[in-house]
Amino acid sequence: MNKGSRYAHATVGSLHGFEGKQFVKDATGATSCEISFGTLPSGAAVPFFHSHKENEENYIILSGAGRFQVDDDVFEISEGSVIRISTNCDRNLKCTSAEPMTYICIQAKEGSLGGYTMTDAEITEHTDLL
Ligand code: ZN
Repeated sequence: MNKGSRYAHATVGSLHGFEGKQFVKDATGATSCEISFGTLPSGAAVPFFHSHKENEENYIILSGAGRFQVDDDVFEISEGSVIRISTNCDRNLKCTSAEPMTYICIQAKEGSLGGYTMTDAEITEHTDLL
């Protein structure tokens, strides 16, 4: 963990040995989104469906494969999948691969993204200390 007045670095450690669910907003002090790491063992699903009132969610599948359900739609997901889910709908995911499924979920206020990448960023001149 590293922390400065303008940044924070947290880690959940190796994703290969990671188990369960870990939220990182409190560790980093993030103000624009909540990020969580999750794993599901083979054959397991999150034990409940849930919905969000104001936040959309973006799931990024890092390893494994399975199925994702949004309301009554079900589709296959696998490593590299990115799934965005709007507010006010039910969602869940299940691991169907032999290996555990590891994923990141980012939740942020729906419709809050103004500028992004080069419409928000600017190239700056700074001494390279790397
Ligand atoms: Zn959620």
